[in-house]
Amino acid sequence: MNVPLLDLKTQYKPLREETRKLVDDILDSQYFIGGPYVAKLEEEVAKYSETKAAIGISSGTDALLASLMAIGISPSPLDRSEPAEVILPTYTFFATAGCVWRAGAKPVFVDIDKDTYNIDVDAIEAKITPRTKAIMPVHLYGQCANMEKIREIADKYNLAIIEDGAQAIGARRNGKRVGNFGDCACLSFFPSKNLGGLGDGGMVVTNNLELADKIRQMRNHGMEPKYYHKFVGGNFRLDAIQAAGLLVKLPHLDKWGQMRRSNASQYNEAFAGIDKIKTPFIESQNYSIYNQYIISVENRDEVMNYLRSKNIGCEIYYPVPLHMQECFAGLGYKMGDFPNAEYAATHTIALPIYPELTSEQISYVASSVKEAVAKF
Ligand SMILES: *Cc1c(COP(=O)(O)O)cnc(C)c1O
Repeated sequence: MNVPLLDLKTQYKPLREETRKLVDDILDSQYFIGGPYVAKLEEEVAKYSETKAAIGISSGTDALLASLMAIGISPSPLDRSEPAEVILPTYTFFATAGCVWRAGAKPVFVDIDKDTYNIDVDAIEAKITPRTKAIMPVHLYGQCANMEKIREIADKYNLAIIEDGAQAIGARRNGKRVGNFGDCACLSFFPSKNLGGLGDGGMVVTNNLELADKIRQMRNHGMEPKYYHKFVGGNFRLDAIQAAGLLVKLPHLDKWGQMRRSNASQYNEAFAGIDKIKTPFIESQNYSIYNQYIISVENRDEVMNYLRSKNIGCEIYYPVPLHMQECFAGLGYKMGDFPNAEYAATHTIALPIYPELTSEQISYVASSVKEAVAKF
């Protein structure tokens, strides 16, 4: 048997005709940037997210950057005072921290909770200084961070909250969807995310209409009206072909989320009672959409090699926590600063969890993992 980490071709097959029809329509119209498909997608994603507004952006990364710029964090060369600081977890995809840096602010890292892999909310307050402007929690692997506690801290110190929801469209916490906790949330439509486009794409969702306006201007060079620039933005626009591809997929997203959850349950059952395999811990407040299914094992690299020898796709998200990345060496962190993140980086494996997995494939992966941990 062969089980890839992700299989987008199977998902595409039943959507092929509809997708090609819309793409053809865009080719005929020669209207490639913005336009009716982008407007329609924004309306549908806002509805789906249960937020007041959604702004289509060129990628999840640009959504984070545009949001930071829109809340007033700026890389202006005229501002040589101490940089603003933004608090974020050290264990996430690089973009979360890269955007903080590119916006001219200093990333201030915090460890993760060892069970959820999300930001350790008890470690945030100690990192707040007079220069702290925002907290960027990441809803990692499809599970929301502890947003009640983060809201409490943000209110106490008057900080903005930008949710990195790149892995969490459709996830809920206490019934609320991503984008309803912070000032805004940033979504990614990178093809491997739960809602993947035909290339790069992203979105900001928010209930703050003033902020939505500012982000809308920010994505188009801070321009309003045409050729008049109130502030410096960028080219963060979403193109029509992406919007069309996403409009075809969005109606299936909840069903795909349920399929991922049912796959996760099958793994959980297969691994139940095996001490050597730590399965995902989902807080009772959370409805996870399992962008990834992460296990933690003692001899991770041996286990991964074994799985690969059995033609099972698996991956490490992420092998190097951000505080240990070379580009951030100047921030002065060292190994040992964030033990939970460092532990996760050396012990976790992502197993295939995509919706179209068959029950036979899951059984095969699960028994191979069990064989591996018995061996190593
Ligand atoms: C994917 C991802 C991003 C970046 O999204 P892109 O659309 O690839 O730019 C940001 N943060 C997290 C946590 C991600 O997983």
